Amino acid sequence: MIIRYVEKLLGWLKREQPAAAPSSERAPAERPVAAISKVEPAASVLTWESELRAITAEASAWSIETGGDLFGRWEANPIIFLATKAGPQAQRDNAHFRLDVDYLRQLSEPLAAQWGLRYFGDWHSHHRLGLSAPSSGDQRRIRQLGNRNNFPGMAEIIVTTEGSRTEPIVRVHAWRYDLSEENGPAPLRVNVLPGCSPVRHAMIARCEFPEQSLREWENVPLNRVRIGDETVPPVLQPQADADANTRERTLAHLARALQQASGGAIEQHTTTFGHILVVPLQEPRHLAFAIEGKWPMNVLEVHRIDREAGTTEPVEFALALTAPEIEPIMTLFRRARARERS
Ligand SMILES: [Zn+2]
Repeated sequence: MIIRYVEKLLGWLKREQPAAAPSSERAPAERPVAAISKVEPAASVLTWESELRAITAEASAWSIETGGDLFGRWEANPIIFLATKAGPQAQRDNAHFRLDVDYLRQLSEPLAAQWGLRYFGDWHSHHRLGLSAPSSGDQRRIRQLGNRNNFPGMAEIIVTTEGSRTEPIVRVHAWRYDLSEENGPAPLRVNVLPGCSPVRHAMIARCEFPEQSLREWENVPLNRVRIGDETVPPVLQPQADADANTRERTLAHLARALQQASGGAIEQHTTTFGHILVVPLQEPRHLAFAIEGKWPMNVLEVHRIDREAGTTEPVEFALALTAPEIEPIMTLFRRARARERS
């Protein structure tokens, strides 16, 4: 099926649809503001199993207060894409936890530019205090941060631990701040998707922020996590494909990297299975990448196409290559180009 698409591309000498401009961290269109005066407060927050297990791993690693940051997209129901751990300068003691603010900035800027994520607030442990609600100091800090940035709302997660010191059960208490009113934070329901957050997945594939040990969550089973006062581990929602925003950004990152590497415009075609990116090698030869539309956006096939001779030839590559893995794809491209020139 894919080869048929690739063959069709042979005839498309005219560039049909240029890839998104290189400066294309195009912010997806802002959602229209609801005309009604009062929007119902979000009753729940959505996240992935990986993020709760990452919080559990980090909270278990310390016997004193610790924490990190929450990043996501603030939609009708906010979505947490990444729960990080604090930077190297964070201060921890028995009853306090203070973030490393410079490190927070180093994290938030690329997360905003690349993934359209914003800072939601922090998560931190109240370890053995057993207090599941934000303290008055916590509330002041979160509100100040939100107001300074003109955010409509913020989220905070307080975790408490119980049982074993080394492998405790970690309870997650999520709170929402509505900054349009003075009320205290309201509890949030937490809905959990199975597996790894797509942003964490892409960051792992790109070896970004190694100090975050982004795979640490895999060592902590979900049965050490509880939400609120529940007695059993969270029930996972049905498997969902990564959202369109995240998938579009992933494709745009790859197209931009290929554009920089090739120095030419990248054609981007939409197909029933997903996308084909066509990268110039040396006229009239091109490299075509067939990429599955659904997450994790597997590279299905790679073809060298010659539009003058009207031929296509499959290019071998490692199995299980995905679009977020920019470096191995660049290596594949450079190898194909080197072959052209030899
Ligand atoms: Zn606190």
